[in-house]
Amino acid sequence: MDGDGARLTNRVPSAYPAADVRAALSSLIGHPTSSAVVTDFDGTMSPIIEDPAAARPLAGIVPVLFRLADLFEKVAVVSGRPVQFLLDALGSDVGAGPWPPISSDGGPDLGVGLGPILLVGLYGLESYTDGQVIREPGIELWRSVIANAADRMATEAPAGVVVEPKGLTVAVHWRRAPDQRQWVTSAVAAQARDHGLTVHAGRCSLELRPPMDVDKGGVVRRLVEGCTDACYIGDDLGDLPAFGALRQLHTEQAVRTTGIAVVDDESDPVVAAAADVVVNGPAGVLELLAWMATEAAGVDDRPGHPRAHRR
Ligand SMILES: [Mg+2]
Repeated sequence: MDGDGARLTNRVPSAYPAADVRAALSSLIGHPTSSAVVTDFDGTMSPIIEDPAAARPLAGIVPVLFRLADLFEKVAVVSGRPVQFLLDALGSDVGAGPWPPISSDGGPDLGVGLGPILLVGLYGLESYTDGQVIREPGIELWRSVIANAADRMATEAPAGVVVEPKGLTVAVHWRRAPDQRQWVTSAVAAQARDHGLTVHAGRCSLELRPPMDVDKGGVVRRLVEGCTDACYIGDDLGDLPAFGALRQLHTEQAVRTTGIAVVDDESDPVVAAAADVVVNGPAGVLELLAWMATEAAGVDDRPGHPRAHRR
């Protein structure tokens, strides 16, 4: 620690997150071996760009996640992207990636043996463990329905609208064509009505998902089970259930929780309102995570196993 927090304010750019962010995370930093660090991907680890397929993590952020995974009880990336996309994207920041190739499917088993960084995709419909993608039971029935809806919209979409099939969900983006927002809204609503799908809002996008009770809130509740402290970092409307889950865990189970909103000029204000503190963009997240790793490396919260002071 710098030992002089009084001199730091939110307005002072520095190598450290703002004073309120550091204060909000002080308990989590002090108890790494019983704490969970959970983060979104798009707009949180990666800058938002026009072509969703090209999104990649900010350089250096994945190695920091690995440092955190060494220190904390759980480190997880929970995203609306498919697990395969997360493997490819996160692997791009660490060369070939530390994960074995995906081999087969199995049953749902969040949080067990997912490796050093837990990966959960499609808002909890998919997760990755021991080289396998595991999916919610019964979800495969929706794959062809989603594919049909995606094909139909891709065929009819006006120029600039990007249809992003994700296997078990499909997102439709109007970022390149802001004047086509109404077309996207109508097209997505029609497919939802025709196929019994549900509509979810995102940044310059709408997404169709199967009508299942799965969201990031349920994922966070399962991941954080048994932890004393937890934080969740996210930037979008799909992260609201995760922030809500943190509050519920705090109220009902006395887990010390911190919701961290990632904000920029485009952010919907409801995201910051649902969180406890804010950071500025993925660059702020990288700064925050690096600070957490440095601070937690100096903590020994394991009785009988003193850890060398590495700072
Ligand atoms: Mg996001």
